[in-house]
Amino acid sequence: MNIDILTLFPGMFKALTSESIIERAQRFAKVKIRTHNIRDFAANKHHKVDDKPFGGGPGMVLQCQPVIDALSSIKRLSPRAKVILMSPKGKMLNHSICLSLSKAAGLILVCGHYEGVDERIMDFIDQEISIGDYVLTGGELPAMVLIDSVVRLLPGVLGHEKSNIDESFTDGLLEYPQYTRPADYRGKKVPELLISGNHNLVKSWRKKESVLKTIDQRPDLIKHISQLEA
Ligand code: SAM
Repeated sequence: MNIDILTLFPGMFKALTSESIIERAQRFAKVKIRTHNIRDFAANKHHKVDDKPFGGGPGMVLQCQPVIDALSSIKRLSPRAKVILMSPKGKMLNHSICLSLSKAAGLILVCGHYEGVDERIMDFIDQEISIGDYVLTGGELPAMVLIDSVVRLLPGVLGHEKSNIDESFTDGLLEYPQYTRPADYRGKKVPELLISGNHNLVKSWRKKESVLKTIDQRPDLIKHISQLEA
C-alpha cells in the first residue's frame, strides 16, 4: 500500500516511520509512506499557504490552491488512492473504518492546520476522518494515528498473523486481561486456570472476562452488538 501525506510539517512523521512496526513494515515493503510539503505547491514566490478567513474571525485558513495542486500531482502517482481529510468534523475513526481502509489501493492523507482548510478542497476529498471529539493543532497526529491503526492490519505486518484476531474491537468487545511471567509477582498471582494448560477453560475464561470488561468500561459497545443481533 502507498500512503501519501500532505502536510506543512513533514518532519513530524520521522518519529512514526523510523521506529517499531511501521519502520519494519516499510523495510519489508508492506507499505510505502511518503510525505509531501504543501508549501512546495504554493504558487507565490514567498510560499505563503494561509490567509485570513472571508467573513472575518480569528486565525488563518489554509488556502485551497496549494492543497488542490498537491493533490492533483500526487493523484498522478497513486490514481486509485482514497483521499482522506483529517478533520474534527469527520466521521470518528473506529476498527471497521480501519479495516476498510486497510483494503484500499492506497491512501492520500491531507493534514489541515490553522483554523482549517478552505472548503473548496472538498470536491477532491473522498472521506473526512476525525480521531475524537477534541481539537488538535494540526492533522499530523490524527494522520499518524490512522496510519498506525491501518498499517498493523495489512497482511504480514504483525509478526504473528493471529495478533489482530483477539484484539479489542475485532469482535465488538474489549480484550480480556493479559498476563506474563512471573506467575507470582510479590503475592499478586496470575489466575490459576491460565497456567492449567486447559485450552478450553482458558478460551471460555477469556470470553467471559472480555464481556465483563466491556460491560464495565464500554457498555455502549454491548448495546451496539445487541442492536446488530436483534
Ligand atoms: N477550526 C476547526 C474546527 O473548529 O473544526 C479546527 C481546526 S484544527 C486547529 C486544524 C487542523 O487540525 C484541522 O484542519 C484538522 O486537519 C486537524 N485536526 C484537529 N483536530 C482533529 C481531530 N480531532 N481529528 C482529526 N483532525 C483534526
